Parts: sequence; C-alpha cells; structure tokens
Amino acid sequence: MRIAGATDTGRIRTINQDAFAFFEQGEHDEILLAVADGLGGHRGGEVASRIAIDTLGEQIGKGAEDPPGRLMHAIERAHERILGAARMDRELGGMGTTLVCLLLRRHGRSFVAHVGDSRLYRFRSGRIDPLTHDHSLVAMLVREGLLSPEQARKDPRQNQILRALGIRDEIQIEISPLQLLPGDRYLLCSDGLHGLLEDDRIRRIVAAGDAPERTVRELIEAANRAGGIDNVTCLLADLTEPTPFPALLRGGLARIAGRLGTLLRRVGNA
Ligand code: CA
Repeated sequence: MRIAGATDTGRIRTINQDAFAFFEQGEHDEILLAVADGLGGHRGGEVASRIAIDTLGEQIGKGAEDPPGRLMHAIERAHERILGAARMDRELGGMGTTLVCLLLRRHGRSFVAHVGDSRLYRFRSGRIDPLTHDHSLVAMLVREGLLSPEQARKDPRQNQILRALGIRDEIQIEISPLQLLPGDRYLLCSDGLHGLLEDDRIRRIVAAGDAPERTVRELIEAANRAGGIDNVTCLLADLTEPTPFPALLRGGLARIAGRLGTLLRRVGNA
C-alpha cells in the first residue's frame, strides 16, 4: 500500500486550518488516515484540527473494543479535548473541526467515519464514488430535493456545517464498514478540494494513475487554478495490486539457470 498526503493554504487565505496524518498500528495490523478542517476565527480552527488529529493518533490503538468501537471512542475523545481547550482559553471559544477518517485493516472489514463536510472518495475500475455525504445545510437541501446539485454549487450557504467536533456538547459521528479490493484508491479531502472541483474532474486526475505523491500535488494545483479560495488537503491511499513481473522474472531466471546447468553437465560428460 502506498499513501501520500499534502495540504496547502490556497491563494486567498493567510493561514492553513486544515490538518491531516496517517498512523500505522502494527499491533492491530491497520492504518488510520484522517483529514480535519478547522472552523473558527483567530487561531481556533488551526488548534481544533490539530487536537483532533493528534488525539486520534494517540487513542486509536487503545482499548479492547472492536475496531469501530475504538474509532468512535477516539473521535469522542478528540471532541471532548477540543471542548476542554476552548473552555480554558477565551480566544479559542467557538472553535471546531470537521473530520473524516479511514481505518484500513489488513484482516476483516475496514471503516470510514466522518463528521462535517470533509469527504472520502473511492476510485475503482475508473469510477469515482463518494463514500460520505456532507453534514452541511446545502447537502441536506439537495438530499431533500429542495436544491439541485448545480444550485448547491453556487449557494452562498455553502459553508454552513451541521455537524462538527467541539461545537456543541453532543456529537453525532457517522460510521460505516467498507470492503476493500486490490487496486482501489481512497481519497480523503477537505472542502477546499471538492468545493472547487467537480467529482468528474477529481476522477480524471486520480484515474491518470500517477504515483500518490504526484496525484495529491496535481489535485491541489487544480484546486488552486480553480480559484484556491480555501485551504485544501488531500490524503490518498493506493491499494496497489501486487505486480506479476517479479514472479515472472524469477521463473525465467530459474529456467535459464536450469538450462545452463544441463548444458554444463553435457560439456562435462563430453
Ligand atoms: Ca475548508
């Protein structure tokens, strides 16, 4: 598996309130990937997204619960810490963050969890499939048939988020299982990407099949070319299929060595 991530302030903003990371859990044979998009003025957003990511990394391996239980617990812990930090420092009051996490497991089912409008996309057989739906006002209006996707794209209420970590006392986390297939690619991103590029544009960049490092750079450049009005973060996991070449090559070399051996024996017998 190959993983690459990158974040960029964009062309308009002066600070980057997004954060991302991935954590390998050797003990559980799993990897947790996460993207958070901080909300709130001053330095609040930056602090909230950082607390979310750091807490996840620290908590995900803890506890004896099943994987979705550990994931839920780690997110709840992050939420409590953000609330606690905001209570301690008035400058941080009202801070919060979105969060999307992908728990990739070698054995058994994998899981996606999210709160807010950061997204997870799956790329499989040339298709793009969003695996999360935004917890935002505009997305809800689209689901209820009150706005068309085209209207939603231009709606001024674009950044009204209905769920986030650290905003209200209670938190509603959405979590679902995933079945992975070799060759899948998974992209976690903030709305600085999907708010500026349509799904099909994202699909074409990812489907080009470049290495993950290059793909995330190209996605960020495309968002900046489309205006770069927000911080943009992309984290891509590539479940590369094992290449058949090394095995073929090994087979070929073995055959050559076998023939050479036969030839040498013949020369020796002559
Ligand atoms: Ca954003």
